[in-house]
Amino acid sequence: MTMRKMLYLLLLFLLAGSVVAQVARNPHNLPLVTTAEAYLAEVRQNDDNRMVNLEALIPGIRLDIRYATASNFTGQQIYPYPAAWLRKPAALALVRVQQALDSIGLALLVYDAYRPYAATLKFYEVYPDTRFVADPAKGSRHNRGAAVDVGLIRKTDGSLVPMPTAYDHFGEEAFPTYNKLPQDLKDNRDLLIRTMQRYGFEVINSEWWHFDFVGWQRFSLLDLSFGDLRKANKKAGKKTFMTKELSH
Ligand SMILES: [Zn+2]
Repeated sequence: MTMRKMLYLLLLFLLAGSVVAQVARNPHNLPLVTTAEAYLAEVRQNDDNRMVNLEALIPGIRLDIRYATASNFTGQQIYPYPAAWLRKPAALALVRVQQALDSIGLALLVYDAYRPYAATLKFYEVYPDTRFVADPAKGSRHNRGAAVDVGLIRKTDGSLVPMPTAYDHFGEEAFPTYNKLPQDLKDNRDLLIRTMQRYGFEVINSEWWHFDFVGWQRFSLLDLSFGDLRKANKKAGKKTFMTKELSH
């Protein structure tokens, strides 16, 4: 009986250990999902945790992922290639934004979406000002797959709709409340913000292009590469939920 009890305790201990091992901690002691297995366990628990590739969901969506080039504030290429991923509910909300823009001849241009946690560490190293880059002790909402950086383009010729500043301009001109601007720039910015808000996104107070998906807190911080996500999603199975959920 005692032996049995000991074995039982040992088994419990091993099981607990394997669960804990799924969530790694970084130097800031933040819980991070760093393996495909841990990510898939979250998807099985709740399908809202699924990461969705925006290029697959929104045909024709335009990407200008600056961190996949050296043309960004770090001056270095951070991502191996351009890709835009978001958690399922955020991705579906973005489809609705795009549908609303369609009717006025505009389209979204995505500058950044999901950002692996390792990139956030890098950004802070280069630019340690938490007004403009995420504090690595907290992580970014981009690391949760619950934030997106967007601008607008005209569908007719693909030209950029002018905004108050360029993407990733660090300064008060980029604040959504900044008003010493020509009326058309204010109008363009406010149209983007209004449309994003209508479908569940909130603009942050220092960047007209950055939107958090409301309820971002429920998603874990991830540190998986785009390639890891693609492989993990193949294991997670079919994406038939899309058409069903978009039809109502
Ligand atoms: Zn952002």
